[in-house]
Amino acid sequence: MEKLKEMIKKEGKALNEHVLKVDSFINHQVNTKLMEEIGEEFTKHFENKNIDRIVTIESSGIAPAVMTALKLNKDLVILKKRTSKTLSGDIYQTPVISFTKGEEYNLTMSKNFIKEGDRVLIIDDFLANGEAASGAIRLLKEAKADVVGVGILIEKSFQPGREKLENMGMEVYSLARIKSLSEGKIEFLGE
Ligand code: 5GP
Repeated sequence: MEKLKEMIKKEGKALNEHVLKVDSFINHQVNTKLMEEIGEEFTKHFENKNIDRIVTIESSGIAPAVMTALKLNKDLVILKKRTSKTLSGDIYQTPVISFTKGEEYNLTMSKNFIKEGDRVLIIDDFLANGEAASGAIRLLKEAKADVVGVGILIEKSFQPGREKLENMGMEVYSLARIKSLSEGKIEFLGE
């Protein structure tokens, strides 16, 4: 998606060879117009898949996932990284290693919102090692849902996430695919 790539070129900051900072338009301040267009782009790509639910992982996936869910006229389920007093009892959990924090957390989903046979689209901001998305897929499989695809804003194609998800039989649709990062330089695949 050209507009997202332009924003990354203009405002993204490669902190090192592994991590891209996008907090001025995606995950601290949110560019709502861009998010709306991202929702439209995912809708265009996935609308013939008979989707029942959108699923994302808190917190940076929420903005694009809300917009996608709105455009597809479906509800959104947000997977949690920690439990709380209001989230107990009937839950599914699976361990996931956080890319940015390097720590393990228990990805958690209530049993109340996904039904057997639901057709689910996963949306997230980044794809790096594929830990978060594959954790979400494990939970959805436990709930006997059918994951019809994974929509990603920024794929770091030099990290193994796409291969991991494709090996699980997933279609991965990424709006921007980064070939490499180095201090001050961001290169996209195919450019
Ligand atoms: P994965 O689980 O695929 O290893 O990493 C994906 C998750 O880690 C995303 O949900 C995202 O929040 C975070 N993440 C991965 N790489 C980056 C990055 O380069 N920059 C930022 N800001 N977050 C990232």
